[in-house]
Amino acid sequence: MGVSLLVKPLSLAILILASLPAIFGQTSSPAGSYVLQNVRLIDGTGRPPIDHASVVIRSGKIAQVVSGRSAVKPEGAQVLNLSGKTVIPGLINGHGHLGLVQGTSVSPSNYTGLNIMRELMQYESYGITTVISLGLNKDLIYKLRSEQEKGNEPGATILTAGRGIGVPDGMPPVKVGSDQLYRPATPEQARAAVREMATHSPDLIKIWVDDSMGKLPKMNPAVYSAVIDEAHHLNLRVAAHVFYLEDAKRLLQAGIDVLAHSVRDQELDADTLSLLKSKQVYYIPTLQLEESFYIYADHPDWMNSPFFKNALSGPLEKELDAASYKNKVEQDPATQAHRKAMQVAMANLKKVHDATAPIGFGTDSGANPYRIPGWAEHRELQLLVQAGLTPVEAIHCATQANAQMLHLEEKTGMIKAGKQADLIVLDADPSTDISNTEKIAMIFHNGRRVDREKK
Ligand SMILES: [Zn+2]
Repeated sequence: MGVSLLVKPLSLAILILASLPAIFGQTSSPAGSYVLQNVRLIDGTGRPPIDHASVVIRSGKIAQVVSGRSAVKPEGAQVLNLSGKTVIPGLINGHGHLGLVQGTSVSPSNYTGLNIMRELMQYESYGITTVISLGLNKDLIYKLRSEQEKGNEPGATILTAGRGIGVPDGMPPVKVGSDQLYRPATPEQARAAVREMATHSPDLIKIWVDDSMGKLPKMNPAVYSAVIDEAHHLNLRVAAHVFYLEDAKRLLQAGIDVLAHSVRDQELDADTLSLLKSKQVYYIPTLQLEESFYIYADHPDWMNSPFFKNALSGPLEKELDAASYKNKVEQDPATQAHRKAMQVAMANLKKVHDATAPIGFGTDSGANPYRIPGWAEHRELQLLVQAGLTPVEAIHCATQANAQMLHLEEKTGMIKAGKQADLIVLDADPSTDISNTEKIAMIFHNGRRVDREKK
């Protein structure tokens, strides 16, 4: 799964350069008609599972969902008797990145059609049928998105926040090209950056506001207020990278639409919780991001599972296995801070949940080599449950709630007649054990059965 596009990489690269539609066309297969019969259904809405359901897929969409044992056999459909299996909607990653990482390297030269398609296919082969690349994109992303909109697959459906807006000499401190990020110094420059991105119809606008644990200058509040104001005038919404409670509160007061990370410096206070709730701002916990700083040095058992290993590139697997990696993490003074930030993030998620404010779902996978596309999203579901959500609630965050956050609710995020046929068939029921989302039997995306065997 992890290397699914490494088939003939050279010829693929040439084809991409020659013609994007040609290569997309070649790797897609037509959407068929299927009946997924006699399944346990978790439909994404958050309601309890329904037993003995059947899901009819036709022309890329969910044509019908029938509860009860009555068999449905539309003409020409392939009937799959899936007794004992559970079906959930395809997962949506509401905070990911594309084209930044290759192996263990992060470089502007990784931002290629080939590398992005490899990542999209990895997401899709893990049942992540939609991903938003939340900033640091080259304009190539819009071309890839529009090819997909024409029906030319493959891979997870792309949404994008385009380049995004950071701070001069500040956040984000990543190696990207000047064509991947704006760093406005003034409110006017910030407005101009939003207007330029708006010409490409991004799915969100992304900003980075904090000081990276005191190491860098913060974004001037006049700059982020200008971004939010300009974006709202252009009917766009703004997602913010946050860490500190104080920034989160100010952003909420300035009209932010999405907090793209957990607050991790201290516990959320009543004012902030009530702002999240009253303004219906989505809070994306990204717990796996924080965990990714230290967890692999602990070598938990799941690191030996094929589900994890298949998601690793060769160079990353080698790095994580090395004794030097464990030593580096254990000796890094930041490690303790990340472990503490994780505990704060877990407690804050429970508070947001108890306050019934909207919770989105994302991982920041693809932002660096340790945030592993496809695998990270299943791990995130497990962490949401550890923080106090039920499995069905965690799945709801990653499906219907995320579709609402991204204004995709008409299209996907639920198993319901009329939606895209984006779904995962599981060998075991995740409502009793969330780690069962890893037991993937088959995946459908836009009604196409995803070939997971390609290596
Ligand atoms: Zn990110």
